[in-house]
Amino acid sequence: MKEFEAIYDKDPYIRSFEATVLSCEKTKKGYEVELSDTAFYPEGGGQPYDQGTINGIFVEEVHKKGDRILHLLKEPVETGIVVNGQIDWQRRFDFMQQHSGEHIVSGIIHGMFGYENVGFHMGKVIQIDFNGPLSWQDVEVIERKANQAITDNIPIEYLYPDAEELEQMPYRSKKELTGKVRVVRIQNIDLCACCGTHVAYTGEIGMIKILSCIKHKEGVRLEMVAGEKAFLYMQEIFNQNHAISVALSAKMNETSEAVKGLQKALVEKERMISILNEKYMNYKLDMFMESQRVIMSFEEEMDRNAMRKFANALVHEKYAHVGAVFSSHEDEYQYVLVSDSFDLRKIVKPLNERLNGRGGGNSEMIQGSFHSTQEEIEEAMHDVEKMV
Ligand SMILES: [Zn+2]
Repeated sequence: MKEFEAIYDKDPYIRSFEATVLSCEKTKKGYEVELSDTAFYPEGGGQPYDQGTINGIFVEEVHKKGDRILHLLKEPVETGIVVNGQIDWQRRFDFMQQHSGEHIVSGIIHGMFGYENVGFHMGKVIQIDFNGPLSWQDVEVIERKANQAITDNIPIEYLYPDAEELEQMPYRSKKELTGKVRVVRIQNIDLCACCGTHVAYTGEIGMIKILSCIKHKEGVRLEMVAGEKAFLYMQEIFNQNHAISVALSAKMNETSEAVKGLQKALVEKERMISILNEKYMNYKLDMFMESQRVIMSFEEEMDRNAMRKFANALVHEKYAHVGAVFSSHEDEYQYVLVSDSFDLRKIVKPLNERLNGRGGGNSEMIQGSFHSTQEEIEEAMHDVEKMV
């Protein structure tokens, strides 16, 4: 097929067409079908391929090979017959909105900063790499201008300049071009060599939202969405913010302040808890006699850090050979055992076996959990007492 003469080039709005099957070849992936003409856009220029059906058979992929366009089907079609092609329009129109939106943003950045678009990928979101830095303030200005270009409803035109005209044209392109070139023009916004499918007027893009701008190589990588995707994204973000607003009884435009307040209160609570833990531990320590072989303390829902601190205090302040803290959590006991005179590795395995436990550690500290009752643990620890 000649360059820029396929149906999708001449009219990207055609979503149903008839064509003759020129060939159908079996390959590893399925059947590669070439048609006399096609509205299926083959992957290219950063835009993914179209999907849809040919005579009701799903078109999985479409690729360009030289000047042939090959449609990948799961089932064969007969060579020479006329078939009906149907484009998955939702998928295609989304690509048209994204791609035209990308041209607007790239054109505005090129106009304002002179940066080139040096990488372009259309996936769940559009990723564009530029070869120069941008601040978030810049991004907000760009986004505003881009949405103004949508409101202005500018026609998107295709130009086919000859070599001489092309020479004079200040168009954007990622590579040196030879042969027939198509330039996509959005008056006063962008001029770019491109083979993709575009909406007829910028108004059809509906909305452009830039999602992020991060440093990438010498420039930045922008992520953006356009069209219905942008609307759905904004709706989701709005709903998120609304839920936060209700949960925190904060106005929709004051949720971030409310979250900061919550974080501050949380830090203060953590501080209070640690003071109370300290007081509780000192109170509890006073209840134990000094220099026993094993000192055990049974607690409820004590966190691991506090358990370690407590077990250490039993050894270093109450001079126990082994300081043992057990804390009930749901249907098990977590344990921390500390010693500075006995190698705890000797008892960790037998204890775990006897008390349905797991865990381990080093000679000075072992920790884990037991699936046993307090009585069973106490009994086992009395046997430990004879060893240390
Ligand atoms: Zn393009």
